[in-house]
Amino acid sequence: MTDPETLAEQVREGELRLHELEEHVDHDTAATARRLLLERETGADLETIGDYAFDAADAEPNIENAIGAAQVPMGICGPVLVNVDESADSRTDGAAEGEYYLPLATTEGALLASVNRGLSVIRAAGGATARVTKSGMTRAPVFRVDGVAEAAETVEWVEDNLEALREAAESTTSHGELLGVEPYVVGDSVYLRFAYDTKDAMGMNMATIATGEACTVVEEETPASLVALSGNLCSDKKPAAINAVEGRGRSVTADVVIPGDLLEERLHTTAEAIVEANTRKNLIGSAKAGSLGFNAHAANVVGAAFLATGQDEAQVVEGANAITTMDTRENDAGANDLYASVSFASLEVGTVGGGTKLPTQSEALEVMGLRGGGDPAGSNADALAEVIATGALAGELSLLAALASRHLASAHEDLGR
Ligand code: NAP
Repeated sequence: MTDPETLAEQVREGELRLHELEEHVDHDTAATARRLLLERETGADLETIGDYAFDAADAEPNIENAIGAAQVPMGICGPVLVNVDESADSRTDGAAEGEYYLPLATTEGALLASVNRGLSVIRAAGGATARVTKSGMTRAPVFRVDGVAEAAETVEWVEDNLEALREAAESTTSHGELLGVEPYVVGDSVYLRFAYDTKDAMGMNMATIATGEACTVVEEETPASLVALSGNLCSDKKPAAINAVEGRGRSVTADVVIPGDLLEERLHTTAEAIVEANTRKNLIGSAKAGSLGFNAHAANVVGAAFLATGQDEAQVVEGANAITTMDTRENDAGANDLYASVSFASLEVGTVGGGTKLPTQSEALEVMGLRGGGDPAGSNADALAEVIATGALAGELSLLAALASRHLASAHEDLGR
């Protein structure tokens, strides 16, 4: 029974189901049996997929029907220099402080080279400043009511009874805190957008479980009946203006002022040329396209950082809600420096839970010094958001500078891609 060959045969004969193998053998043997079955049925050679470096049992909460691992090349960027110059008038301190290596996993050649080019200019300029300005993971269940009168009654009860909802929601978690509930009414549907401080967790499971408990109270106390625990106003893993406007997960901004002479020396361009490229491309072009993201390629850094550090990769959708601004700032010599910023509305990251526990991703977080829960709780995930935002700022700078100096195509050619 424990022999993968026999197991594969039993599945093929219909005596065992593919997803039941772990009930009979250990996780690695089950994965081997599935690969054997697939190899026979498809003729594919799965040697590389089966050559993974972790105990398959460790991945059980993250995957069903495991056959191995998808290995994506990982490289390192940095150091990212962030929040080293705390000015006296800063109202809040950043969570990240100092130098961080940023691991990125991608298949896009030239990405890390580009981000590193931007990071070295940011370092030469004294580092970036980054802050999480808003934080709240959301879940928005949808309820059915008779009509608008019942909808108004439900909304009024929710607004008057936040404490009761908080008590129910927070009974399910020792870390999560309910921040607020925003009601929306459409005909006979009522949506309640619950927002939580989920500390170092990205928080989607935490927020869903807590909201489920709160929904029980809403159903007991109002005429509303729960239709779905997620009514899509959350809004998870879909392009949605509500996240771009209201935020979801971390709203985080990174900015920097780059001296004009540094731009010319390192990036072979000027503040004016970068500002024009940003305005015509990232602002006007994105507006004309009806885009939610007004940036050059922020999702590149978000996606690669998500894969490397075990974030939920489908949430790159929300991670692309970023606005890049570039402006000239006159310096003491009367020349122009460049003010550059990137603001993410909805960067959903965690340093505990989900895929962050997997050995590869856990090592990547360790490289950043941000593995596990922070002290105080939430500070590691805030710092991760700030470092990713700074990496994205570097990517924006580098790409815009390349466009402004018109050598984008030749850079790709030089790197053979
Ligand atoms: P999780 O792995 O489900 O839970 C993480 C838990 O870690 C928290 O609930 C918390 O327990 C505990 N914890 C320990 N130290 C903590 C700290 N310092 N800060 C915060 N929490 C700490 O992770 P999650 O972030 O809630 O959810 C992420 C997972 O949800 C990912 O796997 C993602 O793919 C998945 N996901 C789920 C949904 C859904 O609808 N359910 C949607 C999208 C994604 P306590 O709560 O007991 O304090």
